[in-house]
Amino acid sequence: MQEQQLNFDYETDVVVIGAGNAAMCAAISAREQGAGVIVLEKSPEKEKGGNTTYTHGSIRFAYNGADEIRELVPDLDDAEMAMTDFGSYTEEQFYDDMCRMTDYKTDPVLASILTDESFETMKWMTRHNVKWIPIYGRQAFKVDGVFKFWGGMVLESVGGGHGLVEALHEEASSQGVQILYKTMAVSLLRNDDGVYGVVIRENGKTKRIAASSVIIASGGFHANTEMRSKYLGTQWDAVHVRGSRYNTGDGIRMALDIGALPEGNWTLSHAVMGDRYLPDFEEGFQRLSYPFGILVNANGERFLDEGADFRNYTYAKYGRELLKQPDGYGYQVFDAQTSAQLREEYKGRKVTKVKADTLEELADKMDVDRERFLAEVKRFNESVDRTVPFNPNVKDGRRTIGLDVPKTNWATPIEEGPFEAYAVTCGITFTFGGLKINEEAEVQDTMYESIPGLYAAGEAAGGLFYSNYPGGAGLMAGSVFGKIAGANAAEHANQRAGAKAAIT
Ligand SMILES: Cc1cc2nc3c(=O)[nH]c(=O)nc-3n(C[C@H](O)[C@H](O)[C@H](O)COP(=O)(O)OP(=O)(O)OC[C@H]3O[C@@H](n4cnc5c(N)ncnc54)[C@H](O)[C@@H]3O)c2cc1C
Repeated sequence: MQEQQLNFDYETDVVVIGAGNAAMCAAISAREQGAGVIVLEKSPEKEKGGNTTYTHGSIRFAYNGADEIRELVPDLDDAEMAMTDFGSYTEEQFYDDMCRMTDYKTDPVLASILTDESFETMKWMTRHNVKWIPIYGRQAFKVDGVFKFWGGMVLESVGGGHGLVEALHEEASSQGVQILYKTMAVSLLRNDDGVYGVVIRENGKTKRIAASSVIIASGGFHANTEMRSKYLGTQWDAVHVRGSRYNTGDGIRMALDIGALPEGNWTLSHAVMGDRYLPDFEEGFQRLSYPFGILVNANGERFLDEGADFRNYTYAKYGRELLKQPDGYGYQVFDAQTSAQLREEYKGRKVTKVKADTLEELADKMDVDRERFLAEVKRFNESVDRTVPFNPNVKDGRRTIGLDVPKTNWATPIEEGPFEAYAVTCGITFTFGGLKINEEAEVQDTMYESIPGLYAAGEAAGGLFYSNYPGGAGLMAGSVFGKIAGANAAEHANQRAGAKAAIT
């Protein structure tokens, strides 16, 4: 066989490329089945974990009521349970959200696995020492003494994304998974029997790892300017880049090089509104309280429905809408009535904002067409139906009447000073296009057959997200398909070992 002519520097059952959420779930899952596992992380150890570290750890899963939440968060006491309305979020609701958000383009098989396996996967992660807490601050507002959750997302990992990465790494290391930092996967080794290893660059040296299975969990290509402009369009090359600088599409590219099939939405991505001047890759970019204010472009004009839906159903596509506006920036504007609703990211020094006691003074400080802005706010204020009470916990139907660009929920006139305007631009979070996988997380080739020994999970796999995305589904997708990929990669390695033993 071809691989016997090569010298290998390492040998293992399963290699996992990447060390974020999908990768570490895959590594733990493969190890759980008894496989030897090596994880490759391109970054130095202190930057480990890719986009996963940048998250709040907010994760979307199906559950049937508060008792199931308590299974995942056993520390919740009776007083906390009494003051919280978790509601429920069924598998059907999750599946419907996947369809609705993606204009019904999501792969129904993959979406069914994601939604139906989500709660079991949460329990599995909990058993593997990942800890969760309710997202009281961002997903529930207190009304009449009770926190009511909205938007199908109730838990986040303790310590946010950093906490999630630490927990998964600790668990994997304690189970005997070996992690190589500053080690980049360069290409896949393949012969007629399938994939049998990986070429790597470790501390500037090219080396080879022999492995029966390889799992690609190295993220998408949001941090690769060339791929962004090639696939998303030329206006995306200079866009603000959120998240990890290491997600440059390597895993996707090396699989395509050996005949894998691209899948999903390669021309659109998850992109949000955030601070106009924050440098790339810095945490704290997003500005997500827009449902409670108005958004104007450089002409001073509104251009989308800020209250079309709960924030976590619109935020991933509104960055793209802002990029289409003149010079790709705008302002989120709030008055004294709504500034109390602003999320934590609106505070602190790295926030580009202007504040004034009157709208005229505010307009003077903003980089917009002053007169058109003032006229726009006046028109907006006059159109708000004030007879409907404001309620941030539900889609309250407090809307504008008669505007070409309506605001359909949470419409509040911008009329009580002091006024605040936050300068925002578009920032790309992650890409949707990736590798085609089947229900076993096996990578498919262009003949629609599985490439033996090759698996993918997380952002590296395409087919789940198109045009838009329900918040919290990225982590869940990585966990569900990482777990599946790990178990199947281990089984495949086991079968190969059995076959080799039978020959010798
Ligand atoms: C600011 C921000 C906030 C977010 N918030 C949320 C949230 O709250 N909830 C949610 O569900 N999703 C959120 N997301 C999306 C979420 O981060 C991703 O969907 C998810 O973390 C992707 O996990 P992954 O394991 O596929 O990729 P990643 O976590 O990005 O991991 C990829 C890994 O591969 C490594 N790598 C890349 N190339 C190579 C190579 N050649 N060799 C070796 N290693 C390589 C990278 O260094 C990295 O460690 C957020 C994203 C960002 C950027």
